[in-house]
Order: sequence, then structure tokens, then C-alpha cells
Amino acid sequence: MSAVASGSQGSREAQSLAASVKALTSMLEEPTKSTICASQLHATCVSIQNAIHSSPTVAAQVKLAKSWPQLLRAGIKFLTRKQSPTRFSAMVENLSRCRCNLDQPGIKELHSPTSLDSSLNNSELTQFTNIIHLRFSVHTVIDCIQLALYGQTKHKFRSEKSTTKPNEDQPWPQDPEDLLPFGPEDSVDGIELWAEGPGGYYMYKLATSLALYYHPFSRAMVRPPDYAFAMVRASKHLTGVMDFYDEDPSCAESQDLFEWPITVIFDYFQLLVNHDKFYAMMKATGNTISPVLARLSAILAALPAKDWITDTRVGIEVLSSFANNDLAGMRKRTAPIANTIRDPVYDAFAEMAMVRKGGCANTTCPNTSGTVYARLCSQCNVMRFCGEHCQKEAWKNPLFPHKVLCSKIAKLKEQLGKKAWAQLWTEDMTTAKFLAQPKRPMDTKNVEAIGRILTDIKAFKMALSDDIPWSSRT
Ligand SMILES: [Zn+2]
Ligand SMILES: [Zn+2]
Ligand SMILES: [Zn+2]
Repeated sequence: MSAVASGSQGSREAQSLAASVKALTSMLEEPTKSTICASQLHATCVSIQNAIHSSPTVAAQVKLAKSWPQLLRAGIKFLTRKQSPTRFSAMVENLSRCRCNLDQPGIKELHSPTSLDSSLNNSELTQFTNIIHLRFSVHTVIDCIQLALYGQTKHKFRSEKSTTKPNEDQPWPQDPEDLLPFGPEDSVDGIELWAEGPGGYYMYKLATSLALYYHPFSRAMVRPPDYAFAMVRASKHLTGVMDFYDEDPSCAESQDLFEWPITVIFDYFQLLVNHDKFYAMMKATGNTISPVLARLSAILAALPAKDWITDTRVGIEVLSSFANNDLAGMRKRTAPIANTIRDPVYDAFAEMAMVRKGGCANTTCPNTSGTVYARLCSQCNVMRFCGEHCQKEAWKNPLFPHKVLCSKIAKLKEQLGKKAWAQLWTEDMTTAKFLAQPKRPMDTKNVEAIGRILTDIKAFKMALSDDIPWSSRT
């Protein structure tokens, strides 16, 4: 295994990693019967997190996470199981307990990780600490699931099954039922149980991964008329972060308490912007979300500039424009912030990466089931179509003929060369990293044109898929 060093220490680590994965998996499989102590669970997850973070590349991390299909299968069930709030709290209570005899050798050490407040003694290993431990386990499971789905093409479930492996060892996910065993609707309810309270923001990381990969989940996640999970609870997490900031502004330095909750929620919001109910949702929840956004905007504007802060401020302006129904003013307000980090070439590459991972690119695609595996256009190698019908229709589309875009992208592909082009779509490559490499030969005007067309198609699709007339949206 690439993540583990060789030698005797390496094999000991590998053994303890395997044991950790096994322990976590068995808790996830039977959470109500589990007798593992919360502190032990925490130690188990620390060893899994260490293994992930010591992997040298994202591709290696993905490979490692994918090598634990049983954990992923049990994990998704654990996190998406719909149950009554009473049963849920009983399960959480069971998992936040310590039943250890602290007098036994080696056991006490396990209960005093250095990260804990040293003033806590045995009897003060409180429920609270144990709940934090449980949350850490939940975050670890989500990290594994997110990695396993990372960079996967939408709806591309595995087709090759190994005949020598039993079912539970087959790569995850095999099919929609393997991805979401309780179905999209109930899974949203299950996820929402975990989304409440401190650390609950992490469920939006899970939701983002699932929605990017599987369209039916994305659809189930956004629920009129109150949009409780999709918008209201997400914005409550932002309010929680800001309340904390008001009490102690130094928390802005903390990734854990400040940066991560905000970026997870905004990554999720960014995904929502492409949702076909986005406009309707912003109209319905505008009054709730507007003050939250305004408050966050003021806090972030006063902090030293960082890329993630700038990104978030752009996101706030976009959302506010929708929430306040002021789309005309949007570009004017986002441009001065965005210009400090963005350029049209960057946007074009980022858009291409998004489109390439997405489903059918035909704007009039009749397929709404979302369970289609779309094929890549062999010429541009970016746009996908669910079949010949869609490819033909898109080719001659009166507004956005694929014929035009296809030749522009093909030209870029040619200029960059085979090697660089292939590199663009690998798991380890981000747009920023690609563009930071030594100058690539490309026609910048052509790239900007690609970006403009892709952005227009996105806006058009968004307008089409809602019941809002196109004219009122510009
Ligand atoms: Zn214990
Ligand atoms: Zn199609
Ligand atoms: Zn093409």
C-alpha cells in the first residue's frame, strides 16, 4: 500500500490501520449494539485520518479510501438512515459512552489524548467530550466517502465486478442502491438528523459530494416549501460561526471553528446555484438568508484578504443578489471582488472541468431520470451526451450549437498537446495548479470564448429548468 512506509514499523502501522478500519466499520454496521468506547473510537479515527493525510497525493488518498468498501458501505447507511429523533438520540447516546475500566493498563492513556484539556480527570471525561469524539468519527467517515466519490463522473457506477470477491468487497458504489440504500428522499431525512448541532455543518460536505455525483439526490435535497435542510439549516450553521466570532474574534484564525464551516457551506451553496429550484428557493427564503449574508459579508470584509475569504465574499454577493431579487446589480458588485483573484482563462478551465464531470450537455435533453451515463464527445473530449439523439440535437442547437463550441475546445486541446490535456482531468489536478505551471501555448481569446459560451449555457439551463420566465431573470 503506497501510504504505508516499508519495514517492520510500516507493517505494524498497516496492521493497526487495518484494525482501525475494522473497528470503525463494525461500529457503523451496528451502531445501536456497539460497545466501543467513544475515546477508543476517536483513537481509531485518528489513525485513519493520519493514514489519509500522510498519503502524498489526492490520487493516493482516493485510492486508500476506495480500498475500504465495507467501511464506505456501512458508513453511508450510518449517515443516511432515517429514524425517529428518539431513536437517533438513543443511538448517539450509546455511541458517546465510555464503559472502560480506567485502572487497566494502557486504557487510561487512551482516554487522555493530548488534544483534550489536561485539567479533565477521569470522572470529568464528560458526555460532551465524547460527543466531540463521535462527531470526529462522523467527519472521518464523510472524508472517506467524499474521497471515494472524488472526481467521479456523474452517475458512472462501476460496471466491472470482480468475480473472485464477495459482494461486500466489491468497489463502492456499484449502483444507485449501493450508493444510497434508503433512497434519495429518506437519505436526506437521515442526513438532516446529523446536521443539527455543533459539527453538523460537515453533513453539507457529504451532501455536496452526493449531489455532485448523483442527480436524484440533488433533487431530493432541495425541498419546497420551507427548504429546511437545503437553506435554512445551512444558514443556521453560518449564524453559529458568527455568534462564536462575536464572542471571541480570535476564532477567525481557526480552521476548525471558522474557515472550514464557512467554506463547507459555501462549497455547498455554489453547487445549489446550478440547481433547478435555486431561484424559487432564494425567493422563498430570501428574508431569512439576507441578514445572515449581510452579517457575514461585514465580518469577512474586515479580515485580512485570503483566497477563501475572497471566494466566499463573491459567493455572498451572488446569493444576496438572488435573495434580494437584484440580479441586474450582481455583476457590478461581484466584479470588483472577483477581479482580485479571477481571470477569464481560469473561469473557462474551471467550467470545462465542471461540465466534463456532469451529465448530458444537451440543453434540450429529454432525459430527466438522471440515471444516465453520458458519453464524452470524441472530438472535444469535454461535453457529454447521453446518446446520439442528444449529440445531434446539440450539434445544431439554434442558441448554442455544439458545432461551434466543439471546434473551439478541439483547437485548445490541440494547442495544449495530448499529455497536458490528459493531465488536466486527473484527480490531482486543480485548475489553479494547471495554470500555475510554466506557460502553456494557447490562444487566450479562444479560451475566453469557451468560458463565455459555457457560462451562458449554464445560465440558460438554470432559467429553463425553473418555471420563471427567462425575461424576468436578466
Ligand atoms: Zn472508555
Ligand atoms: Zn441527453
Ligand atoms: Zn464536442
